[in-house]
Amino acid sequence: MPNAGKSNIKFAGMESEASAHLIYLDHNATTAVDKAVLDAMLPWFNQKFGNAASKSHSPGREAADAVATGREQVASLVAAEPDEIIFTSGATEAANIAIRGAALAYHNKGKHIISWPTEHPAVLETLHHLSQNGYEVELLPVDRQGQPDLDRFEKAIRSDTILVCAMTANNETGTVFPITQISKIAHHHGAVVCADATQAAGKMRLDVNELGADLLFISAHKMYGPKGTGALYVRRKNPRVTLSPVLFGGGHEKGLRPGTLNVPGIVGMGAAAERAANNLWDECNRMSQLRTRLEQMITLEPEIFINGDIRNRLPNTTNLLIKGLRASDMLLHTTSLAYSFGSACSSEKQEPSHVLKAMGLTDEEAYASIRLSLGKDTTEAEVDAAAETIRKTIKYLRFRC
Ligand SMILES: *Cc1c(COP(=O)(O)O)cnc(C)c1O
Repeated sequence: MPNAGKSNIKFAGMESEASAHLIYLDHNATTAVDKAVLDAMLPWFNQKFGNAASKSHSPGREAADAVATGREQVASLVAAEPDEIIFTSGATEAANIAIRGAALAYHNKGKHIISWPTEHPAVLETLHHLSQNGYEVELLPVDRQGQPDLDRFEKAIRSDTILVCAMTANNETGTVFPITQISKIAHHHGAVVCADATQAAGKMRLDVNELGADLLFISAHKMYGPKGTGALYVRRKNPRVTLSPVLFGGGHEKGLRPGTLNVPGIVGMGAAAERAANNLWDECNRMSQLRTRLEQMITLEPEIFINGDIRNRLPNTTNLLIKGLRASDMLLHTTSLAYSFGSACSSEKQEPSHVLKAMGLTDEEAYASIRLSLGKDTTEAEVDAAAETIRKTIKYLRFRC
């Protein structure tokens, strides 16, 4: 417990700073590095510091072996082959390499790309860039649950559609997309499927062949690994997918992500991937039970609605519309809790969540929504305390209005 044992003196006007124990419910924004993952990484910073590209001496070869192990561990998490994994600096870089790389590689077939407005900015902004450079990007609507209309998708896809970008699970609502069906339709028309599985990793079963994904990316820091390391899966057979490079340099990672490999990060991502795979079912069950408990307690207050698809949702995420309140007011009055309104990425701008807006919520409803995301170390006591704090605050703010 972060502050256990520290003095708990309260100063007038500083109640918020003095909270003894911060309850972290923002695991979709980032997670703490798991202790065993950290231990696995540490020697690779200063004891075994070789460059994985230095084949002429043992420190280099040792680092290369560690990278190979990390690659196997990450491949295994998504049921891919190790030589289909490219290490990157995170999901955003992987999205850029995949989407821009596919757009360039397949531009002779066409320039039409399909996606949905609920994607992460890592994807949406990359697509926006392409749309300003001669590509036709079509974003199809989602329903109130954040789900796509597959008939509409089938009608939208054309012979010149080269790429379909769909996220496996949404970071704000947890809504799980039907990637398998999307891939079937896309492949029937010869389009490549790129899946953002950043939130799905460690929270649901991930198998690139079951999903039919041709490109798929994840990020270590969303699954108890370090920040600044990610991985991109690039299908090598049935069919082989090619990417044109968008970064240039020493030719590392099959020429797609040149630059000296982040050995500690890759070791950490590998350990995190193995941990996630081994604990998947237990953790999913635990988190979904705690999530149910949290939702049941908070929704004892009236006029609270769950955003997203409650039948197809990540086990750890709840996005709640609290009618008549502003999430920013809620946050000011619940400083013992760490959670978010909208997503971490859009909260700086204080604009209503683009995801909730795309699902048909009004500005007011989007501003009244909060996201709570549980993690592997979240306890029942924390859930109870958080629910109590949130209920009290809702009562207080509603009474005050
Ligand atoms: C966090 C996140 C990203 C960006 O990941 P980084 O590794 O931080 O660049 C992309 N997509 C989704 C769904 C995410 O949750």
